[in-house]
Amino acid sequence: MQPLLTLQKFKKEYNKKSISILKIWGCAMAKSEIKIHKERCKGCEICVVLCPAQVLDMQDFKVHIADIEKCTACMQCELRCPDFAIEVTRL
Ligand code: SF4
Ligand code: SF4
Repeated sequence: MQPLLTLQKFKKEYNKKSISILKIWGCAMAKSEIKIHKERCKGCEICVVLCPAQVLDMQDFKVHIADIEKCTACMQCELRCPDFAIEVTRL
């Protein structure tokens, strides 16, 4: 019984620490600049849906950068935008 409790406690602590490390790593990875060409954006939301880090959202039917700190520069938004309205630069 005791080893099981110790293992459960370890798992809880491990999960807590892993999440913190991921958060720090995520911030450290925010090394990108995103340029939006609003005149080209038709508001299809493809980029918002495909962004794995919830960096983008919509404002007045145009894409908007909600949280640049979360961006990992994966380039999905730039590659998938059918109107070439997003440019991502890795810094
Ligand atoms: S994918 Fe392109 S056109 Fe569609 S919302 Fe995003 S930036 Fe705008
Ligand atoms: S580069 Fe990747 S993480 Fe950054 S906004 Fe585009 S899809 Fe999201």
